Amino acid sequence: TTFTNPPLDPVLLENIGYAHYTTPTPVQKYSIPIVAGGRDLMACAQTGSGKTGGFLFPILSASFTNGPRAPPAESHGAGYGRTRKAYPTGLILAPTRELVSQIHEEARKFCYRSWVRPAVVYGGADINQQLRQIERGCDLLSATPGRLVDLIERGRISLANIRYLVLDEADRMLDMGFEPQIRRIVQGEDMPGVQDRQTLMFSATFPRDIQMLARDFMKDYVFLSV
Ligand code: AMP
Repeated sequence: TTFTNPPLDPVLLENIGYAHYTTPTPVQKYSIPIVAGGRDLMACAQTGSGKTGGFLFPILSASFTNGPRAPPAESHGAGYGRTRKAYPTGLILAPTRELVSQIHEEARKFCYRSWVRPAVVYGGADINQQLRQIERGCDLLSATPGRLVDLIERGRISLANIRYLVLDEADRMLDMGFEPQIRRIVQGEDMPGVQDRQTLMFSATFPRDIQMLARDFMKDYVFLSV
């Protein structure tokens, strides 16, 4: 089997070919049709399972095919040019600098020759350099929770345009104490409601606190364990 179920956007398929991925991993085989079908997803999958492609491929395929979303009303009018606020349509939260950097590198490979401009932000590094990067384009943002809250509070990122939300390694994010920041982001006032976005959670384990997040952040989700 190859990446044919469902058919992916031709530009994405070419980029997958450049990466020499010939066959989907098990998590990709199951997650791609679920996400492409518009469902929310709770997936229990380990690092190394190919879970990054499992969420990037269906999100990028639909994004390439559908084109950019119209900017939200709040981005029009006086001041937009001056404040240079970014309006990503996809957001991936992950616990560490290493992980968000890896996800961003994958996103860069697979966004090649598309309209989607990936960006990455994480704590413990120069915020001004990250601000310059997001000003150059920020359609698919990979972020650690604390740094993202900082950028939202500075008025430099709005989540009003989010169509896809991914929580990667959700159990590790909770272990690291990020639950308040995650709730501030996901349940904050500019994030579209659960009916107006697609939410995907990946976690190695499925303890009670992750079940609660899944209940609070997702609608009628599919549970996948690979
Ligand atoms: P991940 O679990 O997403 O961190 O992926 C683990 C490794 O597998 C990464 O180095 C990916 O580049 C690689 N990988 C992911 N999907 C595939 C695939 N379908 N075929 C070959 N390699 C893959």
